Formats: sequence, C-alpha cells, structure tokens
Amino acid sequence: MKIILIGIQGSGKSTQGNLLSEKLHVSYLSTGHIFRLLAKEKSTHGRYIKEVMNAGYLIPDNKTLAIVEEYLGRLEYKEGYILDGFPRTLTQAKAFKNGIDAVIYLKVSDEEALKRLSYRNGENREDETPSAIHKRIGLFHKLTKPVLDFYRAKGILAEIDGEKSIQEIHKEIIKRINL
Ligand code: AMP
Repeated sequence: MKIILIGIQGSGKSTQGNLLSEKLHVSYLSTGHIFRLLAKEKSTHGRYIKEVMNAGYLIPDNKTLAIVEEYLGRLEYKEGYILDGFPRTLTQAKAFKNGIDAVIYLKVSDEEALKRLSYRNGENREDETPSAIHKRIGLFHKLTKPVLDFYRAKGILAEIDGEKSIQEIHKEIIKRINL
C-alpha cells in the first residue's frame, strides 16, 4: 500500500503517519525528517539545506525528487510506504509516478495549526521559528494546494477533518482507504 499524507505543518501528519504505518505494516517516510538529518551535516550541502529549512522555504524540486527516489529504492519501502511531506509542489507530484493508492489530506485551519505549534515549542525544532512557520503555511496554500487538485482529479484524494481527536481521525483514514 502506498499512501501520501498532505497537510499544513501542525496538521498531525506524523502522528497519523506513524499510526498508519503500524496498522498497515509499511514503512513511514518523512521528507522533513530526511532534510533535518541532512541539515546536520557539516558540509556545504548540509549548511545549504539548513539555511533553506530554517527560513521556511522549500528545498528545490530536483534535489527533493532525487533524494526521495534514492530512499524509496531501499528494501524497507519495497512493500509500500506512508509518505509525509512529499510531494509538496505540482512539479514533484507530476514527476512522481509510483502507483499511489491513496492521498490523505488532513484539513486543519491555519489558526488551529498555529495554536498546536505554539504548544509544541518545547520540542525545540530549529526550523520552527514563527517566521519560518508563517512562510511554510503561505507556501502550502500557494504551492501544495495545486497538488491536492492534481490528486482530486485522479480520484484518489480523501479529505479528512484533521481537527477531530487522534483516534477519530485514524479511524476515518482507515475507513476512507477501504480497509
Ligand atoms: P516538514 O517537516 O515536512 O514540515 O519539512 C520541513 C522542511 O523540510 C520544509 O520546510 C522544507 O524546507 C523541507 N522539505 C520537506 N519536504 C519537502 C519537499 N517535499 N519539498 C521541498 N522541501 C521539503
């Protein structure tokens, strides 16, 4: 089973992604997590990734596509995967032809996401400064909304109210992907 999770930062993608991964016994992959690891590297490349992320911008499509392709070629993703954070632009979505079964859009208002993110500040993610968060939300509306339209037109988009409880959302996802 190959599933994509889409939603603004703070929409609960990683929580739901991990629950789904356990339930379906397929690996979970977050591009944000990959980039946070790369950003720790003490190289020109690592510093570049860190700068882009901390400013709330997106990593260029060609770089992102190459990294995702490299990861998904690994054995642990052979049986399927839950992808969190990719594709985020129409270019990425169009280039990614991997036979996706379902795309889950966790719909949460900007206000609710901002409220949740202010609570998790204690986790101290370096790329979660207020200005980076606002930039990311703005980019979601501008660049990722077209990705939703792209998958809606293909008939594989499930729009889910992401403001319910974690368990309710999980059940709704399971129902919508016909399990
Ligand atoms: P996330 O944890 O998904 O919010 O991602 C954190 C940051 O990683 C983003 O703000 C981007 O800088 C970068 N990133 C993650 N996924 C992508 C992607 N699909 N395309 C471009 N940049 C990405």
